[in-house]
Amino acid sequence: MLCPKCHSSEDKVIDSRLMNNGETIRRRRQCLNCNYRFTTHETIIPVNITTVIKRDGRREEFSVDKLREGIRMACWKRNISSEVLDRIVGDITIRLTLLSQSEISSQEIGEMVMEALKQVDEVAYVRFASVYRHFKDADAFVHEVKSLSHPEDAPPPSP
Ligand SMILES: [Zn+2]
Repeated sequence: MLCPKCHSSEDKVIDSRLMNNGETIRRRRQCLNCNYRFTTHETIIPVNITTVIKRDGRREEFSVDKLREGIRMACWKRNISSEVLDRIVGDITIRLTLLSQSEISSQEIGEMVMEALKQVDEVAYVRFASVYRHFKDADAFVHEVKSLSHPEDAPPPSP
């Protein structure tokens, strides 16, 4: 990104946020040359994937929100910033887009999430992997975590 003030292309991202239902990323940036702060809005290329095929064969509309929610649950009480979370969701969304297909199995998405979490946080990875494999899919996982606990004080189910 070019700094609006000095036109340097060197900047760092201070904060990232998913907006518009996950369709755009708003980033606060700071120019490394003159320290000027500015904001960019990046549009995520629409995902071709529209349908997720569950293990039991049911089909469901793909939802970035659900993807994000599943990952967020796995990162419960881990020191993972929302920026890192956004990055994982963004990376997976891009990978899904590059597949150029309209359907994907919930299992394949789960594998992508596990792969991404593995690089970020071992505990979140193990948690997601064990619970995800135990339950039929990420939805069932999210549902289970929600039904078991009050959001603030209870831990998610352990492996
Ligand atoms: Zn600048």
